[in-house]
Amino acid sequence: MTLHTGRHFLQIPGPTNIPDRVLRAMDMPTMDHRGAEFAELGFAVLSGMQRLFRTGQPVIIYPSSGTGAWEAAIVNTLSPGDKVLMAETGQFAVLWRGIAEKFKLDIDFLPGDWRHGADIGQIEAHLAADKTHRIKAVMVVHNETSTACVTPPLEVRKAMDRVRHPALLMVDTISGLGSLEYEHDAWGIDVSVAGSQKGLMLPPGLGFNAVSEKALAVAKANPGMRSYWDWQDVIAINKAGTWPYTPAINLLMGLKEAIKMLEEEGLDNVFARHKRHSAATRAAMKVWGLETQCQDPQAHSPALTGAVMPEGHDSDHFRKVVLENFDMSLGTGLNKIKGKVFRIGHIGHFNDLMLMGMLSGIEMGLDLAHVPHRSGGVLAAMDVLKGRDVVPMPKVAVA
Ligand code: PLP
Repeated sequence: MTLHTGRHFLQIPGPTNIPDRVLRAMDMPTMDHRGAEFAELGFAVLSGMQRLFRTGQPVIIYPSSGTGAWEAAIVNTLSPGDKVLMAETGQFAVLWRGIAEKFKLDIDFLPGDWRHGADIGQIEAHLAADKTHRIKAVMVVHNETSTACVTPPLEVRKAMDRVRHPALLMVDTISGLGSLEYEHDAWGIDVSVAGSQKGLMLPPGLGFNAVSEKALAVAKANPGMRSYWDWQDVIAINKAGTWPYTPAINLLMGLKEAIKMLEEEGLDNVFARHKRHSAATRAAMKVWGLETQCQDPQAHSPALTGAVMPEGHDSDHFRKVVLENFDMSLGTGLNKIKGKVFRIGHIGHFNDLMLMGMLSGIEMGLDLAHVPHRSGGVLAAMDVLKGRDVVPMPKVAVA
């Protein structure tokens, strides 16, 4: 194994870099989760998550990965045989569909090419044709982490409203929350699904559902089997600031600090920062001559960029060269784009110089791996970053 000095560059689109402040906040003795001190923490993270989701409705926090929160969204609101509409935006849509299949839902899966967000027109047409309202839920992935394409949840909501379809709108914003604008209430979302290890800058281990009044009513009437994931049990005991089981206490300590950091920066500034880093990354790729996996200019993800390798070059080999030479982890291509695409995470706890270091590693890696490209991508990214409002330096006479 090569010996590396300095800090590892973790440039995958989750898990993301954890700020020292969050690490320190978790580095604490654990505590009695039935005591008053814990209740204070419980109330703080529950209300903090409502602010991040921008909802006045309950947020359910599970000790789980995002996959658990996916499952929770399904088992609370749907029963075997229920019809749902999903869109094949990429690997994460495919995986969510896999869970829906295991729960014996009847799935209409709108095909996609993994290079665009969901086709809103297709969703609308499909719902319009469902005259008897058999479709109980529309389920979309907001930020498709396998392709770096965004599907705007508000546009899905508008399409549903145009055809007056009463289905629930469920949105996976696992790699969106804390990085991309998100409005659970204002966008009319019924169930939002999120996870801790992306824009929230925490280790993996927390899953979230934000739920509308309508989704709660559907869940109350839903006879489908569930226990651990049952929203109502959690919401009931959350009123006392605790959970029906032993919660992930130290992760919640980290969550409180992460929410504080996001709010200190200001959510709008956080979203703008992600967009700038995404634009700078694309500027570099344009000079290198690498295609983006996302082909819709309106749908580029602020959180990550997918880079398509030139024909005859393997993206996993390239990632290996970068890891061995520069101690930097880039995201692998998933499923049918494995070997063809590498993913660049610019999400979470991140800044301009981290971006420049990361892009330099890629440009040097392209050279070392003999991948055909033009040099100068790093300079192009610098120009994008310099385009922001900088405090002018005082003029100094050079001798
Ligand atoms: N959905 C999206 C969009 C994701 O990016 C991920 C993980 O990367 C998941 C779902 C699955 O979450 P987890 O791996 O935390 O179970």
